[in-house]
Amino acid sequence: MVDELKVDVVIVGAGPAGSTTARFAAEAGVDVLVLERRAKVGVPVRCGEFMPSLEEMTNMFPDVGDMAELFEVPADLVSLKCDVTRIYSPKFTRYELPFLGYTTDRDRLDQFYASQAEKAGARIMTGQKVVEVKEGMVRTDDLIVKAKVIVGADGPMSMVGKAFGLPRSADLCPAVTTQVKGDFEPVCEMYFGTIAPGGYAWVIPKKGAANVGLGVDRKFGEETVNQYFNEFVKVKGLKADKPEGKFVPMSMPCKRTVSGQAITVGDAAGQVMAVNGGGIPIARLAGRVAGKAVAENVLKGTSLQKYDEEWRRQFYRPLRTAARTKVLAGLCFGSAWRTEMAMKVLGDRRMNNLIRCRPIFP
Ligand SMILES: Cc1cc2nc3c(=O)[nH]c(=O)nc-3n(C[C@H](O)[C@H](O)[C@H](O)COP(=O)(O)OP(=O)(O)OC[C@H]3O[C@@H](n4cnc5c(N)ncnc54)[C@H](O)[C@@H]3O)c2cc1C
Repeated sequence: MVDELKVDVVIVGAGPAGSTTARFAAEAGVDVLVLERRAKVGVPVRCGEFMPSLEEMTNMFPDVGDMAELFEVPADLVSLKCDVTRIYSPKFTRYELPFLGYTTDRDRLDQFYASQAEKAGARIMTGQKVVEVKEGMVRTDDLIVKAKVIVGADGPMSMVGKAFGLPRSADLCPAVTTQVKGDFEPVCEMYFGTIAPGGYAWVIPKKGAANVGLGVDRKFGEETVNQYFNEFVKVKGLKADKPEGKFVPMSMPCKRTVSGQAITVGDAAGQVMAVNGGGIPIARLAGRVAGKAVAENVLKGTSLQKYDEEWRRQFYRPLRTAARTKVLAGLCFGSAWRTEMAMKVLGDRRMNNLIRCRPIFP
């Protein structure tokens, strides 16, 4: 028996983008339903679990107002504070860059964001995989939901985006991660070169553990991401379980994020920092804009294009800079020697700009 529901806004996906959109739309007074295919929000974890500090976010995205409401989290969601990112060249030359952030438990972080949405009045239904999307309607195995607006917050392979002819990120890179027990320095380590062609490997410390992972761009290497991962943990002498993985959008944000009465948000819209694959904070920024825009559409009939215009005004430029830097870096990725030289030329000052989505030249 299939139940039928009618809501103002249906959101596919309860990751950071979906929960944030749900929170702000519900706060504005519309009826919001989130459908999540996982049995439990945030589980399993497929993430490096690193978050930049509010201070770094404010510096990186100067055109976004009041970020505290997006980035303040309860103290128990901060596993370990880090103030240095250590970058390793292919020959293991170290570059130490000051960067404030913290590690978290991604499953509990996603659950916290979902709880904020529920507190605002949104309903979240788990175990509901959306299998069909049409104008004004989405369907799971046991639900038909009719809605005035459909939000695709369903990750990099977005089926909502596909159904409405919206583009995906042009560069989807596989990345995998797992946890390793032990005591680690409070420093985020990133390893570049043939160890992770076109991407990087990381050791990100947590309390009594580290998140260890690796992402690659398949244009630059022959092996699978799991093979690179196994070699990396061997080199590091770490004992790691089988990693979990998925795709990370690593290109310009998508050219269009609105079609008719549908929008895409977060990874589904390619809204990620292409220099490092960090997408949680961008999903938060985008979700707030999306939530307000869909509510205005329902309540006042304002065009959904306002969402596209507003997120581009607030944070497109730093994302574009990061994507351009990644294209430039691609000229070196094929060769360890070129990567080594490029990092020497960049030096600390330009690398500081690079990790903050700022231009590296002049
Ligand atoms: C290995 C790895 C490490 C990463 N490390 C970091 C990091 O350290 N810091 C950082 O900021 N970012 C990191 N990222 C990127 C970050 O995880 C994403 O950018 C972020 O999750 C985007 O949020 P989202 O809500 O757009 O998408 P997601 O978090 O992917 O959420 C999409 C949700 O939609 C659901 N869904 C999909 N299809 C359907 C469907 N048909 N029906 C119902 N539900 C559906 C999914 O189950 C999921 O819950 C990492 C990514 C990977 C792969």
